[in-house]
Amino acid sequence: MELKDVRTRFAPSPTGMLHFGNANTALFNWLVARRYGGKVILRVEDTDLDRSTDNFEQMIIDDLKWLGIDWDEGPGMGGDYGPYHQMHRVDIYNDCVKKLFDLDMVYRCYCTKEELDAEREIAVKTKRPPRYSGKCRKLTPDDHARLEKEGKPFTVRFKTPRKEKVVVKDLIRGDIEFMSDELDDFIIIRSNGVPIFLLCNAVDDAMMKITHVVRGEDHISNTPKQVLINRALGLSVPEYLHTSMILGPDRTKLSKRHGAVSVFQFRELGYLPEALVNYLAFLGWNPKDEREFFSLDELKDAFTVEAMGKAPSVFDENRLRYINSHWMMAVSRDRVVDLAVVFLKKKGWLPEDVSQADRDKISTIIEITGERLKTINDLETYADFFFTEVAEYQPEGVKKHFNAEDTVANLKLIAEEINGLEPFNHETIEKAMYK
Ligand code: GLU
Ligand code: ZN
Repeated sequence: MELKDVRTRFAPSPTGMLHFGNANTALFNWLVARRYGGKVILRVEDTDLDRSTDNFEQMIIDDLKWLGIDWDEGPGMGGDYGPYHQMHRVDIYNDCVKKLFDLDMVYRCYCTKEELDAEREIAVKTKRPPRYSGKCRKLTPDDHARLEKEGKPFTVRFKTPRKEKVVVKDLIRGDIEFMSDELDDFIIIRSNGVPIFLLCNAVDDAMMKITHVVRGEDHISNTPKQVLINRALGLSVPEYLHTSMILGPDRTKLSKRHGAVSVFQFRELGYLPEALVNYLAFLGWNPKDEREFFSLDELKDAFTVEAMGKAPSVFDENRLRYINSHWMMAVSRDRVVDLAVVFLKKKGWLPEDVSQADRDKISTIIEITGERLKTINDLETYADFFFTEVAEYQPEGVKKHFNAEDTVANLKLIAEEINGLEPFNHETIEKAMYK
């Protein structure tokens, strides 16, 4: 498949840190664009006023940069299709809603939460799908005028057409067909006047000339609604790539319950960005051969849309650790030492001012600890004795070796054997020990 003039977008909500699943989506947006010579747009979905913060936005941006995922348009980059924060685009959405009113494609719904809950309860009891009944669709212009005068709060709902086929073009899953009757008259404007992401994203995707929407499988049910909105507005409809779900080891959707799930947490745990990117790529794609290790650059060349899959992937921390151990050896030693310094300072095992001699020592420790070091934080487990007084020796070992009659003689012998050993390395020492 050769994709042309590709424009993808990553649309995070700054309501939390960059989650593993979001990072996976961001990476695939990047790969689809970069592989086919296209552009990546970063669009901030800040319409949830209660939960969005500038701080979260900055953290998401920092994490993306740390991973090496860049963008061509969006915060910090500008671009011809801005603004790239949705709260700065509210006028655009309002114009669209006005147009939809003119087209008689939307209506005001005055139902209260209690009324809707009661409706839903009855539907569940009578085993009907819990959809909005469309009650307010039937209000007369007089009803509307009266309710408006009363100042009753309302939402705006889309008049979902009946018996219309909606086909979503999905490059991973093939065409997905929906009958519009399966969808209810969904809300596009909340009662506080803020448009819902269904509307904002559909409109923005068209206005920003997005060709391919890459997002999680959990959005599939939203897509036909967005297709209907754009169709009503006469706007273009992009193609979709609904990526596969990421599950925890218990096969439920990956979430906080499963431990570290945000990129920031993995950073703190001492992982390298190369490892995370490498691992993330395999959640939803694979090279169809034996290769396991890919840098971002290599991914860009090896990646194809055809090789993306829809089967859910299961997050496997041991696998991530294994990949990280590879990258610890592959990247420059200086970078690994940098990571170690940060970690060791946090532990209080290094002074604020780290000398070159300290760095050399750390480098040697990394060398000797070798493969046991899956992340830099494993220094705590395997190399603590280089930095702290040993508080307690293993009781078993003490019993067996410390008080035996020949302990002193043995130590002397070892000292003699290894003294002046040339070269002084793993092999020669081992050989000396077993002599
Ligand atoms: N903010 C949404 C999410 O993170 C993105 C929705 C979309 O891609 O259209 O799931
Ligand atoms: Zn209603």
